[in-house]
Amino acid sequence: MAQYVFAVDLGGTTVKLGLFDPEGNVLDKWEIVTRKENGGELILPDIAESIKKKAEEKNIAKEEVLGVGIGVPGPVDSKGTIYKAANLGWGVFNVSEKLGELTGFSVKTGNDANVAALGEMWKGGGKGYSSIVAVTLGTGVGGGVIVEGKLIAGSTGAGGEIGHIHVEDNETIPCGCGNKGCLEQYTSATGITRLANERLAKDDKPSVLREGEVSAKTVFDAVKAGDELAIEVAEVFGMYLGKGLATVACVVNPEAFVIGGGVSKAGEVLFDYIEKNYKAFVFHGARDAKFCLATLGNDAGIFGAAKLVLE
Ligand code: ZN
Repeated sequence: MAQYVFAVDLGGTTVKLGLFDPEGNVLDKWEIVTRKENGGELILPDIAESIKKKAEEKNIAKEEVLGVGIGVPGPVDSKGTIYKAANLGWGVFNVSEKLGELTGFSVKTGNDANVAALGEMWKGGGKGYSSIVAVTLGTGVGGGVIVEGKLIAGSTGAGGEIGHIHVEDNETIPCGCGNKGCLEQYTSATGITRLANERLAKDDKPSVLREGEVSAKTVFDAVKAGDELAIEVAEVFGMYLGKGLATVACVVNPEAFVIGGGVSKAGEVLFDYIEKNYKAFVFHGARDAKFCLATLGNDAGIFGAAKLVLE
């Protein structure tokens, strides 16, 4: 009997779905739109419908499905209860139970960033390790912590919220979470752009960044070209992230940090700025953690969701 796993990565605009075999090979991949109206009540029925349709199309019998794994954008505890997903209009309920009823399959649910971390450890940049911290540098900063193969979701699903570690006392602008001085405010794509714009406004120092639109990409392109001002910005970025990850290491002591998200497209140049600050601040016992790049890109979520079922 063949065996299959359905994997779901639920985002604010699209739902990515995947059909896997138990070895982690992707047999099919597709997307549906995330319909958020009426408090997001259509989202899980839409997903269930899409999974049932695919099973029918591929002639997959119910007994052949090991389960459904799903990553959702909000805090989720280890039993599958989500503690509000503002992005989707969802309140507090058990996603595993609800999607289980709708599909008839057993369902495992995790936070999207945590699930992506699991995917990177299984088939991506963290392959071969069993304790990693995945850091996603995108519009915000997400994180996923896996210790000895186990995802650390925490008591209310807030485990791994690396982006909201407090790193700056003198911040006046609030973070998306409402606090001030969060790591995300300096190391996300948005944060890097802001650091660069603030640096540019400070004086007239020449920089290629004065010639066009400033983004995390143009900053690191300029760093690679040797632009002094851009390098100053990268140093500030690296100071905050290196310090933040040194803090994480004191609690988690991972074998590796796996850096992903849009900013990570800049490549290993990031490590020049992160690692020296990490090493300067970290407790000596956690000093030798490796830094690697995530490799699965937007597919990390479905890989991790599949792995949730196979654990
Ligand atoms: Zn925050």
